[in-house]
Amino acid sequence: MSYFSEFLRQETPAPKKVMPGYYRKALIVSEVVLTVYFLAVFFLLPLIEGCWEWVPAVLCAVTGLAARRIGKLNILQNFLVFSAIVLFWSGWGIHFFGWSSGVQHFLVIILLLLFFNICISPPWKVLASVLILAYRIGLYAYAHGRNPVFQLSDNAGIVFQTTNSTIFFLLVALICIVLSSSIQDAERQLRLDNETLNKEAGTDPLTGLPNRRDMISLIEDFQKQNPEHVFSVAIADIDFFKKVNDTYGHACGDYTLIQLTNLFKSESRERFTAARWGGEEFCFFLPDLNLDEAGQIMNDLSYAVEKMPLNFEDKHFNITITVGVEETDFHSSLDQLLDSADEKLYLGKNSGRNRVVV
Ligand code: GH3
Ligand code: MG
Ligand code: MG
Repeated sequence: MSYFSEFLRQETPAPKKVMPGYYRKALIVSEVVLTVYFLAVFFLLPLIEGCWEWVPAVLCAVTGLAARRIGKLNILQNFLVFSAIVLFWSGWGIHFFGWSSGVQHFLVIILLLLFFNICISPPWKVLASVLILAYRIGLYAYAHGRNPVFQLSDNAGIVFQTTNSTIFFLLVALICIVLSSSIQDAERQLRLDNETLNKEAGTDPLTGLPNRRDMISLIEDFQKQNPEHVFSVAIADIDFFKKVNDTYGHACGDYTLIQLTNLFKSESRERFTAARWGGEEFCFFLPDLNLDEAGQIMNDLSYAVEKMPLNFEDKHFNITITVGVEETDFHSSLDQLLDSADEKLYLGKNSGRNRVVV
């Protein structure tokens, strides 16, 4: 019941602006199939009844024209033209060939296209469905109150009914294929977009390193999956980085951050993951390594940073980093662990910089 009331409250965009590709395809497919069908009926009738009938020829022309002009009309106009053709054909078919001809099945195609039309408001959809049902019942009553204009012979009746049923099934199948494949395409695209957005949300745009959010979830995942494994974290901050910016410019500062990132990647050798913690601070996660091991790796890294030549345009310089390292005690929260590494980092800053505090 709540599903139905949700359906009734769906928003409907203005028809002038929207013509979704899948709906356009479904309409074109339906109109092309009907055009061929009307043409076939036009040539079939003289064979089974011995006289030409012009209504299928006119409907063939109108439907063909509608298929060609589909881009010029908006989504609502297109649907109305298609519905008018089908309504007329069902009425005319029942009048001339009777109920057993099966032309009334085509009304279901209107229902299909009606409910997938995003520009018709839900209450109108419900009302239109009721009217289509009433029209069908009316046709039934009409057909049973009188004889059809053409009394088809048994064989002709079988041929005509089989043709109508086949075309009807073909139309339903084609529309379902078009609509379901477009829904699957849209879902696949949505999944890809979500993956890209998630990746971007967890990546620092300048260095391409994971950002704080991604790093925290990486460590938390490790803790969940390996609750008894030791691990260490380290926080590093570039010494006097403001001077680099002030002396050589902001672009040179950015270059330095990127070079540093490259060094971290090449020195990592899968022993740690580096993330940009913010500004000129980096965070390191060292799984399965205790404080001594992590401290040694950070010392080596700090030495490699000091030795790294930086060449930006005609400027040549070096930088140093100060690092605070902490090992998990299996009790403190991740925040407490990171705070502790941060405190050690500031101890290192206060005692002269360019050092690793364990
Ligand atoms: P300390 O040794 O105490 O850490 O000194 P510092 O100069 O490194 O520290 P401070 O906090 O005074 O300055 C940090 C500078 O880092 C200031 C800010 O402009 C710069 N910075 C932060 N993020 C970026 C960035 O993305 N690009 C550039 N070029 N500079 C950045
Ligand atoms: Mg700094
Ligand atoms: Mg800083």
